Amino acid sequence: AAKGDGKGKVMAYTPDLRERVLGRLALVSELTRLLDGDPDAGELVVHYQPLVDLHTEAVFGCEALVRWQHPTRGLLAPDVFLGLAEEHGLAARVDRRVLDEALAQLLRWDRAGLPELRMNVNLGRSSMEHPRLAQDVISSLTESGVSPSRLHVEITEHHELRPEAGVSALQLLSAHGVGVGLDDFGVGYTSLDYLRRYPIEVLKLDRSITRPLEAEPSSPLLEGIVGLARSLGVSVLAEGIETPAQRDRLAALGIAYGQGFSIARPMPASALEGFLRAQATEPVRG
Ligand code: C2E
Ligand code: MG
Ligand code: MG
Ligand code: MG
Repeated sequence: AAKGDGKGKVMAYTPDLRERVLGRLALVSELTRLLDGDPDAGELVVHYQPLVDLHTEAVFGCEALVRWQHPTRGLLAPDVFLGLAEEHGLAARVDRRVLDEALAQLLRWDRAGLPELRMNVNLGRSSMEHPRLAQDVISSLTESGVSPSRLHVEITEHHELRPEAGVSALQLLSAHGVGVGLDDFGVGYTSLDYLRRYPIEVLKLDRSITRPLEAEPSSPLLEGIVGLARSLGVSVLAEGIETPAQRDRLAALGIAYGQGFSIARPMPASALEGFLRAQATEPVRG
């Protein structure tokens, strides 16, 4: 009976699995071609999500978030292809592309007369394990001419990351003036250990921590994190702010910075420029 069941399942499952595997392999070879080709080909695009001061609502920077404008599959979210890129040794090259494009974009905004923004870029596990991480980031900065203090790198806890990976690179970058943020803080188990190992300046609270806020009358967990951050001398940025009420609560708890859909979604560079110009003329509480 077990054999029959198993066979039935396999029959029903196989075509779909086969298609998925082939689809993934196609993405990998397309991504490889993309990375070997011209960076201006336009398929890997960067969207930018504003980072704001929760008290003044001023935008002080943005986070660069990669997308893939795929010719047949449409706009692909990072979750669809970054894991694959990681598995196939391509992820550090994606990060590097995003870094170069984000720095070039900062200069375009400078030339357009926008206020000087800070740029946050994400570094995945492969970047953290890359032997030339610090040199690559520093040479991107040097080539672009962007001041290191305008760049922040966001690192994320990863269970497969070797404990020493990236430590000296991030120390070097930090000594250069590049900021280091700990992304998705509060999700993993070893985040506290990362605080000891890496030269962290900013804790980015994951939205799983900020989301339950509205329903709860008090927030001992958040108060604890704010206290921890204060005693460590690091600042706190709340991610995933989806309502004005949530934002007000976070600000009242003493959290200085935030980002989220209720403030602004990630958007193409041109749209961010429009957003900033509109904000400069009429600040909105939304
Ligand atoms: P992340 O670094 O934690 O980025 C924040 C994610 O939360 C983004 O998803 C953003 O669109 C989403 N988000 C922002 N505000 C809200 C909100 O109010 N509500 C909700 N539900 N979501 C919100 P996205 O762009 O899909 O990126 C997902 C993840 O992919 C990022 O999470 C980051 O870990 C990774 N990623 C994106 N770009 C890059 C990159 O260039 N390099 C690397 N290594 N990772 C990247
Ligand atoms: Mg991030
Ligand atoms: Mg995050
Ligand atoms: Mg997150």
